[in-house]
Amino acid sequence: SKKTVIITGASSGLGLATAKELVKSGEWRVIMACRDYVKAERVAKENDFPEDSYIVQHLDLAANNSVRQFVRTFRTLNIPLDALVCNAAIYFPNAHKEGAFLPGLFPGGGPRWSADGHELSFASNYLGHFLLCNLLLEDLQKSTMKPARCIILGTVTASINDKEVGGMIPPVADLGGLEGLEAGMKQPVTMIDGGRFNGAKAYKDSKVCDVMLMRELHKRFHDKTGVCFASLYPGCIAETNLFREHYPVFRFLFPILQKEVTNAYVSEEEAGRRLAKCVADPAYAQSGVYFSWGGESGTGGAGGTDAVENVGASNDKFLQYGSFRTLKENEI
Ligand code: NDP
Repeated sequence: SKKTVIITGASSGLGLATAKELVKSGEWRVIMACRDYVKAERVAKENDFPEDSYIVQHLDLAANNSVRQFVRTFRTLNIPLDALVCNAAIYFPNAHKEGAFLPGLFPGGGPRWSADGHELSFASNYLGHFLLCNLLLEDLQKSTMKPARCIILGTVTASINDKEVGGMIPPVADLGGLEGLEAGMKQPVTMIDGGRFNGAKAYKDSKVCDVMLMRELHKRFHDKTGVCFASLYPGCIAETNLFREHYPVFRFLFPILQKEVTNAYVSEEEAGRRLAKCVADPAYAQSGVYFSWGGESGTGGAGGTDAVENVGASNDKFLQYGSFRTLKENEI
C-alpha cells in the first residue's frame, strides 16, 4: 500500500511540483493540505492525479482552529502518516509601504493579521507549522516507513547564503533579542525583534524560525522518536506565486537575474524533485540537517545536482551568522 505524506500549500508552486513527483512515483498518497479547497481539487484534476493518490483537506495555517481541525480530520482517515512537509508560505514584500501607486498592483497597506491576531506571514509561515508539527509528531511516530520525516522550507536569509545572493536580496533576517516575542508577538507587535514592520523582513525572519524549529525538534525528539527533522533551501524558484505581490517589473526581471547573474535559479520541476527526495529517498533520511544543492550557498545552478549536501556541520556555522548571534537558544 502507498505511503502517506502531508504537504501544506500543495495547490501551487513547489508544493504542487513535489506532489506531482511523489504521485508519479506510484508509491505515495499525498494529503494536499490547502487553504483553497476548490483550487486544490482543480489542480489535482488538471494534473491527472489518480483518485487513490491524493486527498484534499482544508488547512488554513493562519488560524489555530483550522490547524487543530485539520489534524482531527486527518485522524478520521485512520491511515499512518509517514512524512510531513511544511511548505506553505506567504510573502508581502511591499506591505510596509504606505500608499499604493497603482492600487491593486502595489499592495502596501501595512501589516495584516491572522485569525489569532499575529502578523500574517509570521503566523502562516511559522506559527501554523509549529502547531501542526507539534500535533502530528504523535502520528509520525506511528509511521510504517522508518524513519518518518518532518521537513520544512528555509530560504536565503542573507546569512547562510550571502556569498552568492544574500546581499542582493535585502533585508537581512534578524531576530534581535526576540523582543517582539517577549512582548507577546500580537497586534500591534509585528516583528520578532520588536522593530518597525517590514514585510520582506517578516518573511525572512519567519523562515529563520522555521529552520530553527527543525533544529530544535531534532534536538528534543529525534532520539526519542526516531523521526528525522530536516530543512532545506531548494534554490530560487523565481516564478512561483510567492512573488505575487511584488512589482510586475520585479517579477519580470527576477528570474532573469537569478538565471544570468546569480545562477541560483531552479525550475519548479527541479525544486519539486529535490523536495521529493527529502521525503522519499533513503539517502536523505537524515535528521538535524539543512539540505541545499550545489554547495553551502545552496544555489545549485540551473541544472541542479544530485549530490546530497548535508550541511549538518555548517548548521553550527549558520548560528554564527547575523541574526543567530544574539539568539538565546532556550527561548525558542
Ligand atoms: P507559492 O506561493 O507558489 O506556494 C505557497 C503555497 O502556500 C500556496 O499553495 C498557498 O496557497 C499556500 N498558503 C499560503 N498561505 C496559506 C495558509 N494560510 N494556509 C495554507 N496554505 C497557505 O510559493 P512557493 O511554491 O515559491 O513557496 C513554497 C515554499 O518554498 C515556501 O515555504 C517558500 O518560503 C519556500 N521557498 C521558495 C523559494 C522561491 O524562490 N520561490 C525559495 C526558497 C524557499 P494558494 O495556492 O491558495 O495561494
